Amino acid sequence: MLDLTFEAPKPKVIAGAKSDWELVIGLEVHAQVASRAKLFSGASTEFGAEPNSNVSFVDAAMPGMLPVINEFCVAQAVRTGLGLKAAINLRSAFDRKNYFYPDLPQGYQISQLYHPIVGEGEVIVDMAPGIARRVRIERIHLEQDAGKSIHDLDPNMSFVDLNRTGVALMEIVSRPDIRGPEEAAAYVAKLRQIMRYLGTCDGNMQNGNLRADVNVSVCRPGDYEKFQATGDHSVLGTRCEIKNMNSMRFIQAAIEYEARRQIAIIEDGGKIVQETRLYDPDKGETRSMRSKEEAHDYRYFPCPDLLPLEIEQAWVDDIAGSMPELPDEKKARFVTDYGMTEYDASVLTAEVENAAFFEAVAKGRDGKQAANWVINELFGRLNKEGLSIAESPLSAAQLGGVLDLMAKGDISGKMAKDLFEILWTEEKGADPAEVAAARGMKQVTDTGAIEAAVDEVIAQNPAQVEKAKQNPKLAGWFVGQVLKATGGKANPATVNELVAKKLGL
Ligand code: ADP
Ligand code: MG
Repeated sequence: MLDLTFEAPKPKVIAGAKSDWELVIGLEVHAQVASRAKLFSGASTEFGAEPNSNVSFVDAAMPGMLPVINEFCVAQAVRTGLGLKAAINLRSAFDRKNYFYPDLPQGYQISQLYHPIVGEGEVIVDMAPGIARRVRIERIHLEQDAGKSIHDLDPNMSFVDLNRTGVALMEIVSRPDIRGPEEAAAYVAKLRQIMRYLGTCDGNMQNGNLRADVNVSVCRPGDYEKFQATGDHSVLGTRCEIKNMNSMRFIQAAIEYEARRQIAIIEDGGKIVQETRLYDPDKGETRSMRSKEEAHDYRYFPCPDLLPLEIEQAWVDDIAGSMPELPDEKKARFVTDYGMTEYDASVLTAEVENAAFFEAVAKGRDGKQAANWVINELFGRLNKEGLSIAESPLSAAQLGGVLDLMAKGDISGKMAKDLFEILWTEEKGADPAEVAAARGMKQVTDTGAIEAAVDEVIAQNPAQVEKAKQNPKLAGWFVGQVLKATGGKANPATVNELVAKKLGL
């Protein structure tokens, strides 16, 4: 593992307040389980399907329909728990959370309030290369998603799309260990990265597959330390919850706004009311949605349609045995195996597909050079064109081929860049060696030929030769002339050497 320095929480201090305040943040992340079928029915979870086309009788809550648990979704939750180094509860149970809403035909959501499937774990949040923070996970439970009410298609009517009804969600609840907006975003990013590595959630925030309820409170310096020492929540300030955030940028902006709002109220002699708020990205504000006093009484009770969920340790061990290498381990291995910086390793391991592409290029080659080319040339170009690695016009084998030609000295670095460009735009899928041969891209390493070119440039420019003998810096001009005369094919290092020798520098 990498040598990490765990920073003490660095609370965000809010400027402009009359006195010092610190932030305390806890997140409840809803992650859609990557599964083709729903949690309690066989209906498809496909995104963007025709409205109400993926709805089984169970999802539509037809009378007498009974839920049947999807084993794969349970395995995905266990896998996520193991990825967060969490305790797996061999016995968990489902509860009904009762409320009425048009997009919830059952009249209740099946969730796990009292006995969640996953217990305490942790997420190591990367703040800067080598600097990390530990955020504790309190629990992960499985629950159903609701459908979607659509209010903007008709001025007089609302519609409901039940495709999402019953899709499996993992609710990942953190302890209030997060101390600032950047850290909150970094935490969500790390969770997303781990789940994408595990294949348990695709983390597509735009499609709502990863959403966070953000709990924010403010306290006086020293109070958080008291909470840490005693575990007593009452020493912290009253929190407000900002619901359903699905953008890293908005999460940060909402926390900033909410902290300032709470501080202003307290400094004016007011009190924070515990409530649920919504963030309005257009106004950059949060506004009240419902107060805790009016909060629904959900009347939780054990779901009579489902037996407690009992899983076997051997089954958990099987899942544990099939865990992929996780981001932190991969990053550490890249640093040791390829001798790259931790920063480069972070870039290459950000997405598991990117890391795999890099390793295919680096295999049997110079790892540092492969890293440079993948990060600077390939990722640079993909970013510029808004492409993902899967859409890369250049394969790992092709990029490897370019590096091989360079390593053999067949082509110069400059030629390699030209070749990259040709493979990207004109010769898609072609063999780099064949393209280089067909286009006469060959670096002249034959000293005899280069020497002749150097002699000629020297013979033709006697005045420059005199100047260069006074001022050796001018030798560069000769190198340039020789490279030009050889059509950029001469090996620059050889030219440099020969020019210096011939000028007697
Ligand atoms: P409840 O039982 O009311 O849902 P929890 O204790 O389960 O409350 O906490 C819900 C979320 O709120 C958790 O993510 C937790 O970390 C967070 N949280 C709890 N207390 C605070 C606080 N004082 N400030 C910020 N977040 C908090
Ligand atoms: Mg709770």
